[in-house]
Amino acid sequence: MRIAEQFRPNRPVFSIELFPPKTPEGVDNLKAKLNEIAAHRPDYVSVTYGAGGGTRHTTREICAHIKQALGIEAMAHLTCVAHSRGEIHDLLAMLKNEGIENIMALRGDPPQGQERFVQPEDGFAYAIELIRAIRDAGEFGIGVAGYPEGHVEAPDYETSLRHQIEKIRAGADFVVSQLFMVNDYFLRWRDALWRAGITVPIVPGILPALSAPQIGRFAALCGAQVPDALRVGLERFEAHPESAAAYGLVYAMRQIEALLKEGVAGVHLYALNRLESIRAVSALVEGYRGPE
Ligand code: FAD
Repeated sequence: MRIAEQFRPNRPVFSIELFPPKTPEGVDNLKAKLNEIAAHRPDYVSVTYGAGGGTRHTTREICAHIKQALGIEAMAHLTCVAHSRGEIHDLLAMLKNEGIENIMALRGDPPQGQERFVQPEDGFAYAIELIRAIRDAGEFGIGVAGYPEGHVEAPDYETSLRHQIEKIRAGADFVVSQLFMVNDYFLRWRDALWRAGITVPIVPGILPALSAPQIGRFAALCGAQVPDALRVGLERFEAHPESAAAYGLVYAMRQIEALLKEGVAGVHLYALNRLESIRAVSALVEGYRGPE
């Protein structure tokens, strides 16, 4: 099923993003966790794509497990990093063979140790080119990344927004935002996209913070603002990691509840493979969904 078909009025789509573990034991652990995740009835689960190295095929393996063994819609992330056009073509064929029907089409982050994204030889420079290639291949629903505070590499917010709109128009079925901690940024950006005539669902991506250093690092990488209230709150629990994570989860839940009241199309949880946040957020979103 194309994920786009899951969006209906007054029924926010709940999705969970996982990352592929690096070891076979890690993959087994995640598959065990997925049994509980399935019980929380997410509309779909997405699996990120590494910048290189050994986890790239694991993305496909976990997506196939989610789809085939658990009967849940899966979305495989795919990036332009280090892939030629021919390789992308082959990867799309493999995803299709595994029954994967949805792809999050991304340019991708540079591999560790590399400062900037480098266009691969005979590969794509921007996500928009990958989107067009996936569209040409047919068969797939397409999600794209969105930037409520502007993309970190864009010279300014307006340029980021312009590229965002072009990318959506190139063939996105829906947009999932980068993490943000100030709802007003998301709502302002959603309004700007609506004013530009964008009609596909625009979904907030929320990451429950685990600690002040962790969220500081993530936010610096992607150019998101960490409000003082969240940072100071997390710092108070520096010596108690579990309490800090609980504080971060409560902050995220408040954010999500306010967004649901604003009528967002869905909630995408950056779960970091943690069951605690999945349990809490699935129960919260469930309360805002009408009967099937
Ligand atoms: P693009 O849309 O191509 O944008 C990249 C930059 O290029 C932007 O600054 C944009 O303004 C600029 N740009 C676009 N078009 C043009 C143009 N024609 N001329 C000049 N500049 C242009 N990364 C991973 O590596 N793996 C993942 O699995 C992954 N999953 C993600 C999931 C979500 C929901 C989100 C929000 C992000 C994810 N990322 C992932 C991170 C993403 O790869 C990075 O944010 C990356 O820096 C940009 O990817 P993009 O697809 O948005 O790129």
